[in-house]
Amino acid sequence: MSFSELGLSEEIIRAVTEQGYSAPTPIQSQAIPAVLKGGDLLAGAQTGTGKTAGFTLPILQRLAQRKHLTGGARQPIRALILTPTRELAAQVEESVRIYGKYLKLNSAVIFGGVGIHPQIKQLERGVDILVATPGRLLDHMQQGTIDLKQIEILVLDEADRMLDMGFIRDIRRVLAALPTQRQNLLFSATFSDEIKALADSLLNAPAMIEVARRNSTVNVIAQKIHPVDRNRKHPLLSHLISSRQWSQVLVFTRTKHGANKLVEQLSKDGITALAIHGNKSQSARTRALSEFKNGSLQVLVATDIAARGIDIDQLPHVVNYDLPNVPEDYVHRIGRTGRAGATGEAVSLVCVDEHDMLKGIEKLIKRSIPQEVIPGFEPDPNARPQPIQLRSGNAGGRNQGRRDKPAGKTAGNGNARTPAPQKSSAQPAAGKKPRAQIPALQRRPAERRKDAA
Ligand code: AMP
Repeated sequence: MSFSELGLSEEIIRAVTEQGYSAPTPIQSQAIPAVLKGGDLLAGAQTGTGKTAGFTLPILQRLAQRKHLTGGARQPIRALILTPTRELAAQVEESVRIYGKYLKLNSAVIFGGVGIHPQIKQLERGVDILVATPGRLLDHMQQGTIDLKQIEILVLDEADRMLDMGFIRDIRRVLAALPTQRQNLLFSATFSDEIKALADSLLNAPAMIEVARRNSTVNVIAQKIHPVDRNRKHPLLSHLISSRQWSQVLVFTRTKHGANKLVEQLSKDGITALAIHGNKSQSARTRALSEFKNGSLQVLVATDIAARGIDIDQLPHVVNYDLPNVPEDYVHRIGRTGRAGATGEAVSLVCVDEHDMLKGIEKLIKRSIPQEVIPGFEPDPNARPQPIQLRSGNAGGRNQGRRDKPAGKTAGNGNARTPAPQKSSAQPAAGKKPRAQIPALQRRPAERRKDAA
């Protein structure tokens, strides 16, 4: 199967060929013809499958083929792509520009955490394809600086993530501002009941495609557990990076504080590292990501939400420094490696506190992950588990530009226990008031995620 057999125009094929793509990926061979036909689409696809081009290419083709029908002074926005995070929004819009470089279509990206006025100016100049995160899009709608009445195509990208992040009400408000006659495409890695309900209300007789089985981990990724004591994780990570000469490693921590601390520790070991998380400014995140992509930064340390949508070709190593609070995040994390057919390695440093989390993950992916103890880092067989701290101290300032709702009354929850503070590497710094430690399963996933943002 080739891109031209899918019915794409010469201009688009030229742009795709310049990217070095010789053949469509499975999601592309199925999604492209379906979208070109004009109907709605429900697609199950994870990051790394080539899904972005799967919807971008046919959207470009449809918009380029058909002039917009209604007249009007200003060029209307014709396609709207909603994504959960700023990073993903920026990457999707970059793809639109790359694949559409030989077409006369304009695109723009709008997200929070940066000034709104340049975005207003850009919208005034006219945009065909808009990529946006829900929060900032609503800001524009409320200020009357955006007109969505002529949207022909709507895409919800990583819809499951958007729901996890609590965006459902924002999405519904955006949907209410769109014309009823339009094409809808919904992409999601997983299909919870909530996603099914959204799909039912949004999509009209959709074509359905699924390329990666629900909650399956991609086979080309080699997964391994390194059991280790909780206070030996940092030396073990430095050892792995140095002894195996890893030059580009994405490391996940559970909290923002944990990410900052690890960056400091690695830097002392002479390993270049930066963190991206919700307390970092947009410019700091963009800089870290670009240094990581161009190879000048060895280690990027990220929390789950910040890492969502990071698009780096053939990322060779992903390290779970802490296991995620939510088992599904494990699948998303390791999906960052071994993309588009390349092989990758995902290792998890697991201490005694995380054994239940590991069980949850293995149950979800329906396999047990091989374990390897690294000589010199053997865990203490008598170590007892301690409660895991799910929250960071909010050391780095406020969460910039996020529309997160208040975290809710977690500590006031009738079931919540507040264990006495214990000595652990995950304890807050001396002098700080210890935060309540709420067992993960007593809190809703959205709450747990907000803490890690
Ligand atoms: P995505 O799932 O959209 O995040 O894409 C994953 C990665 O695959 C991106 O880095 C794309 O540049 C790359 N990619 C997309 N389509 C193809 C293709 N047909 N052949 C090779 N690589 C591709």
